[in-house]
Amino acid sequence: MQINSKLPNVGTTIFSIMSKMANDHGAINLAQGFPDFPVSPQLIDRVHHYMKQGFNQYAPMPGVPVLRKAIADKTERCYGWRPNEDQEITVTCGAIEAINSTISALIHAGDEVIIMDPAYDAYEPIINLQGAKAIGVPLRKTDYSIDWQAVESKITDRTKMIMINSPHNPSGAIISADDLRNLEMLTSGTDIFILSDEVYEHILFDGDLHQSVLRSEELRNRSIVTSSFGKTFHATGWRMGYLVAPTGIMAEVRKVHQYNTFTIHTATQYAIADYLADASNYESVAPMYQQKRDFFLNKMASSKFKPIPAKGTYFQLMDFSAISDTGDVEFSEWMTKEIGVATIPMSVFYQDKQDNKVLRFCFAKDEETLAAAAEKLCAL
Ligand code: GLN
Repeated sequence: MQINSKLPNVGTTIFSIMSKMANDHGAINLAQGFPDFPVSPQLIDRVHHYMKQGFNQYAPMPGVPVLRKAIADKTERCYGWRPNEDQEITVTCGAIEAINSTISALIHAGDEVIIMDPAYDAYEPIINLQGAKAIGVPLRKTDYSIDWQAVESKITDRTKMIMINSPHNPSGAIISADDLRNLEMLTSGTDIFILSDEVYEHILFDGDLHQSVLRSEELRNRSIVTSSFGKTFHATGWRMGYLVAPTGIMAEVRKVHQYNTFTIHTATQYAIADYLADASNYESVAPMYQQKRDFFLNKMASSKFKPIPAKGTYFQLMDFSAISDTGDVEFSEWMTKEIGVATIPMSVFYQDKQDNKVLRFCFAKDEETLAAAAEKLCAL
């Protein structure tokens, strides 16, 4: 049979490739972003509790009401504005389903979606699946901040959406209140949607505050915001995310969500609703990761890798140009196989696959894991 591929240039994601390579070669996996420490036993007990209580059938399509209420409470506490829990919140199968359902619902063939470059690898294929085009705007070379003039220069009458991501995967950069004002000015009076990927909203360092687009009335009227309990509660395998968007936009997105995943694991939704009642369960996440980042940087201090400061996420970029002038993909494969530490080569996140000799390290790991990896890396 001839298969007419809808994504002829897409292979397996780099995260699956590097995790397999790490497993095959017994390497320490600092590549794919997932924690290697346990989920809170209290949260696991709640899931178990609700499963034993019989909460094992379909949840309501947008999510169980108690979880949507808990999300509304958290949003109000964090960003000073409360979404309507019936109409403006939908629980999704991880943030990636949220992004998929949103783009499928709102983007037509021939549309243009502005993304930052580098960007998380899933955005462009999802846009392309709609017959639409991802228009990359280069982030600044020095600190991965957004050049709003460059964004403005890419806006055409085909621009239907601007995607932003803060804290930013892979760079760890964050947006500021000024960035929100720039975004307001650029989109005010237009029909441009904003899809804001905020899955690392609870992982910011050194006292910085997360600048959610939900803080701005102007922006939230045109924005779809996605977040992730997988990231916040170190349970990436549970696939628990959610969306916040205005009623009219959300109605369109739910039309897709209902025929995509339909609903999300029922007992886990009830369990997370209980767990969110104690704000310290999400407010303690940033200091925990800051300690890990600092521990890892400290252990790497004597290495030839040069860290690029990260303000959020659980990723740390490192420049390896003082060690090797091989391409980053080749270098990360060599490091996995010969040194025993897997990472992600940064070039995969660029539209033109530019190689700046930078690797992404995930530090969402126990101190023993980070220390063992750093010892190997310092020998290079
Ligand atoms: N978000 C994770 C990362 O950036 C990967 C998720 C996945 O493997 N699809 O590493």
